[in-house]
Amino acid sequence: MSAQLNRFILVMAAGALVVLTMATPAGAVFDPIATEPVAPYAQPVDASVPKRGCTTTPADPKNTTGSTPAVQVIYAWHDGNGNNYEAYVERIAKIVDRMDWLLDESTNYDQHIKTSCRTGYDTSTYSGYAHALVIPEKIELADPAAENPPEVMADDLAAAGYDDANRKYVVFEDFDGTGTAHCGPVCVATADEWDSGTMMHELIHLHNVDHAKVTEVPDTLAVNDVMSSQYNDWQVDQEFNNYYDPSEVSALFYTSNHPSTNKVNLAAYPQFTTPICCDVGYSNDLLTAQERTIEAQAPYSFPTGFSVSGGGWMQITPPGADNQVSARYYDGRRSLTMNVQAHAEGFLSITRRPAVTAGQRYKFFTRLTTGASGDVKLRLSWYNGSNSLISTSDSSLYALTSDWQEYNVSAIAPSGTATVQLSVVSPSGQNFAYLTDSWQLNHCNNGKTVDGCRIDG
Ligand SMILES: [Zn+2]
Repeated sequence: MSAQLNRFILVMAAGALVVLTMATPAGAVFDPIATEPVAPYAQPVDASVPKRGCTTTPADPKNTTGSTPAVQVIYAWHDGNGNNYEAYVERIAKIVDRMDWLLDESTNYDQHIKTSCRTGYDTSTYSGYAHALVIPEKIELADPAAENPPEVMADDLAAAGYDDANRKYVVFEDFDGTGTAHCGPVCVATADEWDSGTMMHELIHLHNVDHAKVTEVPDTLAVNDVMSSQYNDWQVDQEFNNYYDPSEVSALFYTSNHPSTNKVNLAAYPQFTTPICCDVGYSNDLLTAQERTIEAQAPYSFPTGFSVSGGGWMQITPPGADNQVSARYYDGRRSLTMNVQAHAEGFLSITRRPAVTAGQRYKFFTRLTTGASGDVKLRLSWYNGSNSLISTSDSSLYALTSDWQEYNVSAIAPSGTATVQLSVVSPSGQNFAYLTDSWQLNHCNNGKTVDGCRIDG
């Protein structure tokens, strides 16, 4: 049933810090150990990485029909480089632990990889867990000197009986292979450069997620993402708007260029556990997918969840130039257009006021552009439990440009605050239209980055 996925060959990049090293086993000619990604902040040292453990341990790993969907980890070797399973098994398990860590650490949701283990080992010890988690498989290579494509791994695993549709096979290649996601006859995520960022990147591809793009910026890659720079960055969709939203698993996101209609949410991956709110992780967002993206609304319709007061009126952006309708290049989702009128200060707001905690810092982001020229500022309006306005926190006044640029304002919720309203404010005396999209409200409590909020851009 598996469709052939596009192959995603990785571009090698240099410069990442070495946080994991291991000597190549004596006699081996191939060294698969790569470097771990270190952004947006360093991963914990090996001893502090949580042990993922086994989610399910079927009696026969080759017959898992009816068991929970899970990832099966494979160590792939061939005669030319020898079987180095004992030398590498704990290293591979640690990389899988790091893959699980980066998924959980990416957001304030608790979510994990479901792993499939084999019987016969004492998983209370790390060595026993690693041996149960990682299964060695000898691969016959037609040409060991050549770069071996993922089809070789998929065909070999299927022929050996690893062919269950509820398994995604994560294949650590101990020979010249590729960093690839491939389905047919079974789904394999492969890497011959072993690190958690690379393997997670390929595993995510198996859920039909493409490389992360900045949703509203035509053809622009989101650079700080495991789907764009997996050698440096371990985090998953920090803005909750490209392919991963654990706060709404039913929300779907276009993940490939227009006119692709593929829509997914990585948070609903059957091989992952159900996300649970809330703990502390790198990113978070207090808006709904609709408020964040103006999700998939047709032109000329009314922008659900938003309201306007004062000088102006709003609409879903009508058909127009590609650089105005973000949808054209990328995802089919349209931005919101605010038609500013001169007679009064204009307020474009998210109608709902998310709950916040007094004394904590919050940061409001949005992307804005205009085909003309005009000035706006961002505003956080703090309300108490009786729905009375306490005070407002404004950004500086921005002169908008023809580029989709991100703007933000950050402030600490004053004493007595219960909720906050997000607004873009246009001073009176102007007649122009601006476009806005990609709204986000972060609670700056991760304790891991400079002001506790995600890094801009
Ligand atoms: Zn890729």
